Amino acid sequence: MAVERREIVVVGGGLAGWAAGLGFACEGFDTLLLAPAAKPDGRSTALIGRSVPFLQRLGMMDAILASAEPLSTMRIVDDGGRLLHAPTVEFHAAEIGLPAFGYNILNADLLAGFEARGEALGARLERREAKATGLEADATGAVVTLEDGSQLRADLVVAADGRRSPMRQAAGIAVGEWSYPQSALVMNFSHRLPHGSVSTEFHTRNGPFTQVPLPGRRSSLVWVEEPRIAELLEELTPEALSRRVEERLHSILGSVEVEMPVQRFPLSGARAASMAGDRLALVGEAGHAFPPIGAQGLNLGLRDVDQLLQLACENRDDAGARVVLGRYAAGRRADVASRSAGVDLLNRSLLTGFLPVQFARSAGLSMLAGIAPLRRFAMREGVSPGAGLLGLPRSLRELWS
Ligand SMILES: Cc1cc2nc3c(=O)[nH]c(=O)nc-3n(C[C@H](O)[C@H](O)[C@H](O)COP(=O)(O)OP(=O)(O)OC[C@H]3O[C@@H](n4cnc5c(N)ncnc54)[C@H](O)[C@@H]3O)c2cc1C
Repeated sequence: MAVERREIVVVGGGLAGWAAGLGFACEGFDTLLLAPAAKPDGRSTALIGRSVPFLQRLGMMDAILASAEPLSTMRIVDDGGRLLHAPTVEFHAAEIGLPAFGYNILNADLLAGFEARGEALGARLERREAKATGLEADATGAVVTLEDGSQLRADLVVAADGRRSPMRQAAGIAVGEWSYPQSALVMNFSHRLPHGSVSTEFHTRNGPFTQVPLPGRRSSLVWVEEPRIAELLEELTPEALSRRVEERLHSILGSVEVEMPVQRFPLSGARAASMAGDRLALVGEAGHAFPPIGAQGLNLGLRDVDQLLQLACENRDDAGARVVLGRYAAGRRADVASRSAGVDLLNRSLLTGFLPVQFARSAGLSMLAGIAPLRRFAMREGVSPGAGLLGLPRSLRELWS
């Protein structure tokens, strides 16, 4: 059987895979996206910081504006009922001169937008509903084997095949994995009072309980709980669950009506030892996964894709050359490490009853609530890593570096 050839083969049709497929096709690379049909996904994604201009470059802004809600304020409420109680912190986008931190959109709507954009690109992006089963690579290129036994040759394979990543495994890239004594319940709900484009994250003893606004009087919710409690909550009737949600929200949105079905995700973390191998780049959860705190996961995945694209464009003749992938792996290290560690630390600080840790957390939140320049620094860093430093006076920047 003749082996087909492409410059880029993207494996995985989740959100990171579609972003990669569209990105390479828009940049003029001969691209094939292997995207088996997606499973139903009731989650939403808060697209923040650089994700927004990146998606704009992919021609996605109309689709996003048609179905997303801007995020103008993010609020953190200490709801742990512990001895040390931190003040509520509010981050207003206007404080750093932005109309919004970003947009919250249902994953299903974002995926539909990607698919429509892919169709609009016509022959520039070929999508195939097939699974990859094998990968081999040498200095001249990679060969991806599909489930029907056919093979594709490529300069670069982009593994966007999720946290179990068969491509990462085939390349022999090690992965560190850990789990948390928590599960996330994900649901969407309508409510009587307007949300005012505000997202509220309640920090409870068992994890965060995060409401994120959707268009109209509707919001999405990620409710992190002990696995046993999460299972019990999942079995409640819609009416009983709606009452529990309203209670947890302290009725800030009035009465609520939960939409079914509710989805449950056991929480775990993972990080690949390297974001690249021979002729292979990992993006999204193939390279890193962590609990849903502070809307970091996909935003980090989109930064992977953005950086990979920039490096590939600088070496168009061979986007999968060793020099490109070496720079990619090195370039992603700090961003991935700092986000994974930050989310892990914050999550563990909620779970621990250890007083010094509670004190540090509470002091940190108090400082954020009371010191405006520090709050602005945190907001700029949250929106765009490295941008917080640029907002500091020069002398402080030098001291920091
Ligand atoms: C409860 C929850 C809430 C979250 N909220 C946010 C948020 O607000 N903001 C944010 O930035 N992030 C958020 N995240 C994280 C975000 O959802 C993930 O980072 C993102 O969905 C991962 O996308 P992905 O494309 O990397 O992986 P996946 O979505 O897992 O996609 C992988 C794809 O690869 C395909 N695949 C697997 N094997 C093969 C193969 N052999 N061949 C071909 N295809 C294959 C699969 O079918 C799948 O479609 C949240 C996560 C959770 C659990």
